[in-house]
Amino acid sequence: GKGIAVFTSGGDSQGMNAAVRAVVRMSIYLGCKVYFIKEGYQGMVDGGANIVEAVWSSVSSIIHLGGTTIGSARCKDFRERAGRLKAAKNLIGRGITNLVVIGGDGSLTGANLFRQEWGSLLDELLKNGEITAEQRNKYKILNIAGLVGSIDNDFCGTDMTIGTDSALHRIIEATDAIISTAYSHQRTFIMEVMGRHCGYLSVVSALTTEADFVFCPESPPPENWETRLCKKLDQERMAGQRLNIIIVAEGAIDRHGEPITAGQVKKVIEDNLQQDTRITVLGHVQRGGSPSAFDRILGCRMGAEAVMALMEADENTEPCVISLDGNQAIRLPLMDCVKRTQAVAKAMADKQWEDAVELRGKS
Ligand code: ATP
Repeated sequence: GKGIAVFTSGGDSQGMNAAVRAVVRMSIYLGCKVYFIKEGYQGMVDGGANIVEAVWSSVSSIIHLGGTTIGSARCKDFRERAGRLKAAKNLIGRGITNLVVIGGDGSLTGANLFRQEWGSLLDELLKNGEITAEQRNKYKILNIAGLVGSIDNDFCGTDMTIGTDSALHRIIEATDAIISTAYSHQRTFIMEVMGRHCGYLSVVSALTTEADFVFCPESPPPENWETRLCKKLDQERMAGQRLNIIIVAEGAIDRHGEPITAGQVKKVIEDNLQQDTRITVLGHVQRGGSPSAFDRILGCRMGAEAVMALMEADENTEPCVISLDGNQAIRLPLMDCVKRTQAVAKAMADKQWEDAVELRGKS
């Protein structure tokens, strides 16, 4: 059978383990040899004990764990051709010509580049005498399937990225806990949540926790947001509410593209309303902890579909990303999705927020 390897790269997210598990078990079920590459691209470049064959039981008891048990990393070496040359040699040595990459847009971009260079990397290895002519011919095609692991839900082409739902649950749980203490002391709480370019976590958590105000990256508030905010909070208190909750995404900005921070919002409230105001920064709590049922199933479905895509791939097949479209797992051209994701980031940087939202929405 084919040689398949799976690795996780970039920031970790809940549900990655479910995806790794599905890749391993589907591969074995279909008669393939399947490998873990530990520590992302770094493990691929370094080789050795970082690339190990997986068996059925290697992925027992991991579906309920957050993070990624096979490790993840950011890797400078893989950004250089010399690093990718080493990685190619390590893969060929084990007969691996199929990769399942689980990561964000950076990791998928790296995989695409690797695939494009594959032929020339093998030529160089052959010239250096590091592989044989037989190996050069046998392993001439590298097939790639990508899965998007990210808690931010910031990738174009998929309705949900692996990890988003769990992060959202964590935020809601923490906010519910804060609400009970805020109620007792009639306090105002500002919750800082993740989401550098994407307001999904902040907006959905605001809607589901009955927050009074939300600041997110792609919909900057009007110029006079300070007045509006204070008016809204005041109104709620006058109407008998004992507390206020404000959600601030870490990437929140104003109409000039300048950051709006939790500290700034606190100062505005204290200066104008004299409310007892506290900040809670959720930080990495959002990325950790056990994955939700949704993320476990999402990881399983995406992982299984990635293996199917690799099984069906031939030399003309472009790298694909497995996406969730409604309730369907579908395959989309990897680079189209990455390019659109990058176009959204650019539109945001250019302060074209409406364009960014429209671009992200298109499938
Ligand atoms: P996150 O959503 O957490 O940022 P990501 O996959 O986008 O995840 P990056 O740090 O951008 O995270 O990329 C992870 C790794 O992928 C990098 O450390 C690098 O090894 C590799 N990589 C990223 N971009 C490229 C590229 N253009 N060429 C080669 N390798 C790349």
